[in-house]
Amino acid sequence: RPVVGVLALQGDVREHLVALARAGADPVPVRREAELAAVHAVVLPGGESTTMSRLLRTFELLEPLRERIASGLPTYGSCAGMILLAREVLDTRADAVGVGGLDVTVRRNAFGRQVDSFETDLDVVGVVGPPVRAVFIRAPWVERVGDGVQVLARVPPGHGAADGRVVAVRQGSVLATSFHPEVTGDGRVHELFLRMVRESADGDMG
Ligand code: GLN
Repeated sequence: RPVVGVLALQGDVREHLVALARAGADPVPVRREAELAAVHAVVLPGGESTTMSRLLRTFELLEPLRERIASGLPTYGSCAGMILLAREVLDTRADAVGVGGLDVTVRRNAFGRQVDSFETDLDVVGVVGPPVRAVFIRAPWVERVGDGVQVLARVPPGHGAADGRVVAVRQGSVLATSFHPEVTGDGRVHELFLRMVRESADGDMG
């Protein structure tokens, strides 16, 4: 079982630990550099991205996390985690810094201009079976997608200004969703991430 860390500074850490264990990983909370060094992959949970950004600096995890992601650590960010991974963030605080890994521009609290939270069914590339019930909570959406970035899901029609917005992306071994699959009990997005982790481990370790 791959050892998958969940960044445990703030946010819905417990939900990701549970979802990862169900999907077949050995999940561990990560708060220190030594813990980060011991994982095969990492999850950046939902929560509040500017708070997480500040805590990453306080816990001296910002640079180590940046470096590991840049050197190919499989990483999954949901909601605030997507914001932390994004190269560019609109509508955030000037001092909020991210960890990189994803060549996208996201707009923070994008859906919140209309409704703070909503749910819809999404078709997600790489997830087989019925659509994924997606829960959005003051979520970002993706406004620009770089060349190496694959769009995995868009908001379906019927949601006003949100229609067609990109809400799930993948770039190499980095996965990000605007929504929170960790809160619905549907393990298929975490299973998709674990397949990415195994693919990447095959390449690294033969
Ligand atoms: N609005 C939050 C932020 O800006 C993200 C919300 C979430 O993770 N559910 O970080």
